[in-house]
Amino acid sequence: MVSPHTRDPVGVSLLGSTGSIGTSALRVFARHPQRFVPVALTANGRVDALAEQVATWKPSYVGVVSGEPPAGSGWHRGPDCLVEAATHPDAQVVLNAVVGAAGLHATLAALRAGRTVALANKETLVVAGEVVMATARTGGGTVVPVDSEHSAILQCLAGRRPEEVRRLIITASGGPFRTWPTARISDATVADALNHPTWRMGSKITIDSATLANKALEVIEAHHLFGVPYDRIEVVVHPQSIVHSFVEFIDGSVVAQLGVPSMELPILYALTHPERIADSGVPRYDPVAAGSLQFEPVRHDAFPTLTLGIEAGRAGGAAPAVFNAANEEAVAAFLQGALTFGQIPVRIASALEALADRPGRTLEELLEADAEARRHVQSRLSC
Ligand code: NDP
Ligand code: MG
Repeated sequence: MVSPHTRDPVGVSLLGSTGSIGTSALRVFARHPQRFVPVALTANGRVDALAEQVATWKPSYVGVVSGEPPAGSGWHRGPDCLVEAATHPDAQVVLNAVVGAAGLHATLAALRAGRTVALANKETLVVAGEVVMATARTGGGTVVPVDSEHSAILQCLAGRRPEEVRRLIITASGGPFRTWPTARISDATVADALNHPTWRMGSKITIDSATLANKALEVIEAHHLFGVPYDRIEVVVHPQSIVHSFVEFIDGSVVAQLGVPSMELPILYALTHPERIADSGVPRYDPVAAGSLQFEPVRHDAFPTLTLGIEAGRAGGAAPAVFNAANEEAVAAFLQGALTFGQIPVRIASALEALADRPGRTLEELLEADAEARRHVQSRLSC
């Protein structure tokens, strides 16, 4: 995408710049100022953090979705700012690092405008994967994954034809409850669930990693990105998070991508794909020092959210949007103390049972299903 010989820096709109992926992306830009320049930055409500970034980077567009811009700053305000930033005339690439379905419209707008979307916002593909990929085809845009597993698969697939692929194997760290007895997991506290063993991330994806909802979202994401059917996508637990995923080919050969866990490498690769450039800032992998790599089966009985999500993906239609919205609401309620950890899959299952059969072909139908699922979970919080 970005030629190693490009002279002018590539303009990047960074949506969700104040988050975990957003700040990692700014570290990547700081390391490669001659290659990448943020032309637009957006946040939700953390105005002070955004103001510091703006002082450093001086982007031409700044937007806050729900916060109050500083007086006289000239920042844009409200939900439209994501789409405005995503279609900024100076942005060749849109790095979507917003959390949740709130990032969907910006992804679609960027693809309609023919931009390259470096996509961390996996919920975009879970809610409306078919609509998003069709929009990329008709609008001339491209989706390049930032998620480490999908970056790994993209790297393993380089130069291969789809018919040569037998199976994708997505690795999962297993989260903080990998070794907990099943009965104890449902009583896990917010602090327990936020204590991820290998990755430092935003709170929503950290809870998703504890329930393994994140892996369900990633299976659905992989299905849409790589066009592989669900029965040829598997999940394996790998506690060290060194192997970021595998691809098995029809001749039995298996290719993996490895690296020390850091999102700066997949962010950089998404921005330079299909080229590579030196200096991702990631510590070099030493196989001897790193020691042994373990792989284990997923404990489906202990992590029902994973099964619910994969089944929603297989069902298609509105089911993945319902799964995603119910999960977002249940996770927010858990973080606020309104649900226990064990109630997260129960509330998602209830929403799926009530709403998964709704129509889900058009964007409007999917957004309605999303809204219904949120109402379904919220209306039962006091019960
Ligand atoms: P964070 O919660 O750390 O950051 C989210 C960013 O989005 C912040 O800038 C936040 O602004 C902004 N934001 C939140 N809600 C809204 C909204 N409703 N509208 C507009 N902007 C909003 O999340 P992460 O960086 O951890 O994750 C971002 C995305 O990347 C998620 O989809 C996640 O699943 C995915 N991802 C993350 C990985 C990681 O290592 N963190 C790895 C792989 C994928 P503010 O700060 O003002 O609240
Ligand atoms: Mg991931």
